Amino acid sequence: MAVELQKRSAYAVAQKRFDEAADVLGLSEDERRLLRDVKRELTVHFPVRHEDGSVHLYTGFRVHHNINRGPAKGGLRYSPDLTLDLVKALAMLMTWKCAVVRIPFGGAKGGVVVDPRALTRGELEHVTRRYATEIALLLGPERDIPAPDLGTTPEVMAWIMDTMSMHAGHSVTASVTGKPVDVGGSEGRQEAAGRGVTYLTLEALKYLQVTEQPATVAVQGFGQVGRSAARLLHEAGLMVVAVSDSRGGVYNPTGLDLDALEEHRRFRGQISGFKKADDISNAELLELPVTVLVPAAIEDQITEQNAPRIRARLITEAANAAVTPEADAILADRDVFLIPDILANSGGVIVSYFEWVQDLQEFFWEEEEINTKLHHLITRAFYEVLHTSVNRRLDMRRAAYVLAVQRVANATNVRGIYP
Ligand code: GLU
Repeated sequence: MAVELQKRSAYAVAQKRFDEAADVLGLSEDERRLLRDVKRELTVHFPVRHEDGSVHLYTGFRVHHNINRGPAKGGLRYSPDLTLDLVKALAMLMTWKCAVVRIPFGGAKGGVVVDPRALTRGELEHVTRRYATEIALLLGPERDIPAPDLGTTPEVMAWIMDTMSMHAGHSVTASVTGKPVDVGGSEGRQEAAGRGVTYLTLEALKYLQVTEQPATVAVQGFGQVGRSAARLLHEAGLMVVAVSDSRGGVYNPTGLDLDALEEHRRFRGQISGFKKADDISNAELLELPVTVLVPAAIEDQITEQNAPRIRARLITEAANAAVTPEADAILADRDVFLIPDILANSGGVIVSYFEWVQDLQEFFWEEEEINTKLHHLITRAFYEVLHTSVNRRLDMRRAAYVLAVQRVANATNVRGIYP
């Protein structure tokens, strides 16, 4: 009989990573106590009437990990597997992510336990508006600004912004980021995470002095982040040889025709079965002989099981927590260079910051300006992490954590404890 293994707590993993950084920094017990737990966790249960007349009870969360560097910031995830434990872990990652790239936000995360694909558009709107109302006590441009994450879209953000605006009696565009451009969204936000992945990958290849021409890439996950990363890496001159979605992937060692693949996916609703490539599983994709591996799907994809077989020279960890701590150690031993999640996918929240600033000042920038500013912030962060890594002899993840945790600890120390 198969034994179901108890899934490890994502929050415990996040705290372990924090503890390691705290050890390196020599933080006091008091400092640790202030940073290793979330500040607030709100769980809401709310009813929604479906189109067939039946009433369903939904559960949603919003968690603030730390708000000492600015308002709480972080995405909303719609997933049937969502748990408070995972939301707490992801909220903590947002605190470090904002700190490592030096944008003035704290960390938050939220979401609803729901499979958005199982709902009609109308039902999804009702779930969203009711959830937004339930967590509205935490939200606001100066307090907590949600954004898209797995399973949510710009349209979902527009509904949340509209709900907040209805309650306020006027438009509050800065209450949410990742909105459509028509309602105060920013140019470049949709592709921002993928663009950040691309800028960082190019910097890392330069640093590693990779000479393969062209360098090859495999991208796991074909959501907003994976898709734009694949396209932008291709435009930057790399050869994308494999991509996948949750059902499986395709591989062509001489390069994929991404336009034809998009066309195939629109038609078939999946990536597998694309004629000009071989079908592969998600597990196989991760072990391909490529220069760059971009896990852009979900957590816990590179583990102690498959880490010894990873053949990439560089991993750009686009999905939050795609690599486990045990895998980190194996990859470091094998000299695989890792750009850790809190840096790798920070392009999304960086352009969220730009969106929030544009909404607050009611003055909007051209896409070129946004991309230039994104490039500046993310490249600066890359070299700060790299220098910390080299100078303190830490792997890239530990270096990123040490920088981020130090900044949040500093903010906490200067502010002191109220009253
Ligand atoms: N959900 C994204 C993340 O995990 C974006 C968050 C944001 O833009 O606030 O970074």
